[in-house]
Amino acid sequence: MKENSLVHLDNVNMIFYRPDDALHVLYNISMNLHEGEILGLLGPSGSGKSTILNIVAGLLAPSSGQVECHGQIGYMFQRDHLLDWRNIYDNIMLGLEIQKNITPQSEAKVERLLKSYDLWDFRRHFPKELSGGMRQRVALIRTLAIDPDILLLDEPFSSLDYQTRLLVSNDIYKIIKQENKSTIMVTHDISEAIGMCDTIYVLSKRPTNVKAIHSINLTTADEKTPLTARKAPEYQHYFDLIWKEMMQYEGK
Ligand code: ADP
Ligand code: MG
Repeated sequence: MKENSLVHLDNVNMIFYRPDDALHVLYNISMNLHEGEILGLLGPSGSGKSTILNIVAGLLAPSSGQVECHGQIGYMFQRDHLLDWRNIYDNIMLGLEIQKNITPQSEAKVERLLKSYDLWDFRRHFPKELSGGMRQRVALIRTLAIDPDILLLDEPFSSLDYQTRLLVSNDIYKIIKQENKSTIMVTHDISEAIGMCDTIYVLSKRPTNVKAIHSINLTTADEKTPLTARKAPEYQHYFDLIWKEMMQYEGK
């Protein structure tokens, strides 16, 4: 185990065997998630980003390589998966209910989360009455309710339109930092990755390898958030650099 890393992947390979062929998706992927870090996985569609999260979560065993994970995982899937027939409060309690872990403490925690993140007044509403952005906040709070050490977010904003996406990513960023969660976030959006992440892993196309690792250091007047990040003088530099890296494998 590397020093203070919560997730450690070492030369992970994933090959999917299909009736007529084999698909080599991940090729020697190595990765470390450190305490308090937001790590971004940035790569084209089909490069195996969700597969990496599934391996970290223990839902898939890699074909070869080492996976170490220290702490409980909270996994937020690409779609919010809220249950239409349960109100917001009962949706948020779902994970705790499955774990048979509803206690006065866990109820108090959920109440604090709902109040802190402006959902308390909506707790008796049903998912269909909420905007896309609010639904994402509910999905995140449901994931946080089980008090995970590690958050896995799979393209958390991809269902939202551009403007909502900016605002919601700002909200979600603040929640993750305030709750001090170590996070792996999948995205295919360069701006979003720069705005949200402390570290970005740029992935190649299949068989997917780590092409570059960037530590993002931005000078922002106020606290860094996805919105203030766009005004930082270094922002364009990172954007151009990563754009180039991603274009190389498009053959352009
Ligand atoms: P991404 O999230 O980057 O879009 P995925 O991890 O979902 O990519 O998938 C990577 C590739 O692996 C895709 O071509 C997908 O069709 C394939 N794949 C994913 N899961 C399986 C599976 N269980 N069996 C066979 N092929 C799979
Ligand atoms: Mg995916």
